[in-house]
Amino acid sequence: NNIDALQPLETTISDMERFKDATTLDLHCPNCSSEFPFGGIVPSNHYLMCYNGLQCKNCEKIFSTIQLTSQLESSIRSHISLYYAGWLICDDITCGNVTRQISVFGKRCLNDGCTGVMRYRYTDKQLYNQLLYFDSLFDREKNKNQEIKPLYHEGDPDFPTEKLNDSSIRALSEQNRELFEVNRGVVQKYLSDCGRRYVDMGSIFEFMA
Ligand SMILES: [Zn+2]
Ligand SMILES: [Zn+2]
Repeated sequence: NNIDALQPLETTISDMERFKDATTLDLHCPNCSSEFPFGGIVPSNHYLMCYNGLQCKNCEKIFSTIQLTSQLESSIRSHISLYYAGWLICDDITCGNVTRQISVFGKRCLNDGCTGVMRYRYTDKQLYNQLLYFDSLFDREKNKNQEIKPLYHEGDPDFPTEKLNDSSIRALSEQNRELFEVNRGVVQKYLSDCGRRYVDMGSIFEFMA
């Protein structure tokens, strides 16, 4: 019926909104060095999820589990470093002053004549959201239900011409169960650190509600 038909679409929209500022998980092929964004079990001109893993379309190399998890982990760590770098940006877009946080400056922008307020360029919420986005890429239920934020939009020069049908997406989610669980485990490790140590729990629950 109509309600059932609408549900997957609405879920897609909510994840798209939640992850609108999340950056893609960019992988490089360990064999031919081609680089591409990974977006779960979705059509791509650069990679293919096959029954035994992630395959580079350029050279047909299949990533080993560690070749995928190490790139995921290094991407997570670079987001965490960015967060810890503590860069501040002026909220006046005509100013755009960017600086490292120095407490004595307070929140006022120090550019001559600017009335802007300095805000964290990379907030704890953004970091947490970024990790949730990475988590969603390896979430088998979200893959099966095609709820992952799309990598491409119609009209993008790289928009994939081929499509994946529902039954192959479901089959591939099952066939790659172990690979996806290992990768989710990597993200979960940082998510739980993030929840415990770095992020104000109140702000997490407020924003997840
Ligand atoms: Zn390759
Ligand atoms: Zn300013």
